[in-house]
Amino acid sequence: MHLAILSRNANLYSTRRLVEAAELQGHTVRVIDTLRCYMNVTTNKPSIHYRGEELEEFDAVIPRIGASVTFYGTAVLRQFEMMGVYTLNESVAITRSRDKLRSLQLLSRKGIGLPITGFAHSPDDIPDLIRMVGGAPLVIKLLEGTQGIGVVLAETEKAAESVIQAFMGLKANIMVQQYIQEAGGADIRCFVIGDKIVAAMKRQAEPGEFRSNLHRGGSAELIKITPQERATATRAAKAMGLNVCGVDLLRSNQGPVVMEVNSSPGLEGIEAATGKDIAGQIIEYITRNAAPNKNRTRGRG
Ligand code: ADP
Repeated sequence: MHLAILSRNANLYSTRRLVEAAELQGHTVRVIDTLRCYMNVTTNKPSIHYRGEELEEFDAVIPRIGASVTFYGTAVLRQFEMMGVYTLNESVAITRSRDKLRSLQLLSRKGIGLPITGFAHSPDDIPDLIRMVGGAPLVIKLLEGTQGIGVVLAETEKAAESVIQAFMGLKANIMVQQYIQEAGGADIRCFVIGDKIVAAMKRQAEPGEFRSNLHRGGSAELIKITPQERATATRAAKAMGLNVCGVDLLRSNQGPVVMEVNSSPGLEGIEAATGKDIAGQIIEYITRNAAPNKNRTRGRG
């Protein structure tokens, strides 16, 4: 097969590993800088140009679209879909997963475990919003945040009120969430390919920190997950429509709750923690599934 990886940087660990795995399995692969693609949106013959020429035909596209380029990146991906090219994750599914609130709404529709989450616009509604999620301590999240930035633990109701007021004053979109204290600063990243969890790791926050993001100094180790956790993660991936993703779970007293579904999960942490060849498994999945005009949505929301 001839594969394309949409990525801003060919030197990133995940991109390099995917190239390596594809070549090892006998495929040809080209890394394409997402932001250098430009599109001809025309009746019947849509095309993509790249650095002055029309792109060759690919059998499959692997999107690795960073949060900061979601709008442009999903437009490029959608263009591939219009051309009938198989994309590992579809543009619509990526757009869904990038909106934290929309993702939780879609997961709740499917009855998947979630932390109680509130969303409000008016400062007048803050006291009831806090009550609704069970009072302090609680977690306040910027909808646009990534890598743990913009996630705040408010220990008291007074603190919660002032932080929410401040964010609202700045016109930032936030959600307010029940704090899963019993998770003990740990979360579980489940790596999903198709309908299987191919690897899982536990990420533990540094002492004194509740956010377990590796970017925030968290550490990762291999973990065995329960059948209930496995089912929650695969159902979450399915609800979002993602073939490959990272589902982040917290172990709550009520069972597993989903915090987030990541459509471009990093390979470095999970391959290091589990010793598994995740890149190789992604390429194998593509080999088994890629075919022209196979995408389900082709840009339909
Ligand atoms: P980001 O997308 O920025 O990583 P997350 O929503 O994943 O934001 O939160 C970052 C980290 O904070 C999580 O990995 C988890 O360890 C911790 N965390 C987030 N929400 C909660 C919560 N409701 N209860 C307990 N810990 C949480």
